[in-house]
Amino acid sequence: METLQRLTRRQVDALRLVARRDAGGPGVPLNAVAEGLGVTAPSALALLGPLESNGLIARFRGKSRLTSRGRSCLDEYLRHHRVAESLFARAGLPREATHAAALEVDLALSHRTVQEICEAEGHPSVCPHGRPIAPCSSSGGGRRR
Ligand SMILES: [Zn+2]
Ligand SMILES: [Zn+2]
Repeated sequence: METLQRLTRRQVDALRLVARRDAGGPGVPLNAVAEGLGVTAPSALALLGPLESNGLIARFRGKSRLTSRGRSCLDEYLRHHRVAESLFARAGLPREATHAAALEVDLALSHRTVQEICEAEGHPSVCPHGRPIAPCSSSGGGRRR
């Protein structure tokens, strides 16, 4: 099973929060993670544990930092999310609805399926909201247009 498929929505929220707040500093304290997610410190800790055991964050003296593995996992997550948004947009959903619809499936999709959707969609370079979609391996490694 791929890493993303093992994560829950709340764990991904915690990972994104650590990525946002980390920014090369000394790391994000537990209470900042808890506050950012609107949960208690023990709940935040329960979310961070699996992220640490999957090597996505490193914890030192109570502070969390994103690892390079965590960074690539987040990049991959954004690819899944935005490719799914593109699919829903082309299926006719209004642009405002594509984000919520993509949240329902982005963690469940395998990389292979995302790749196949990306190909079928003609390798979109941006999501319906104009955010960049990183080129996938089957787009020849470069830009198509
Ligand atoms: Zn592609
Ligand atoms: Zn989007």
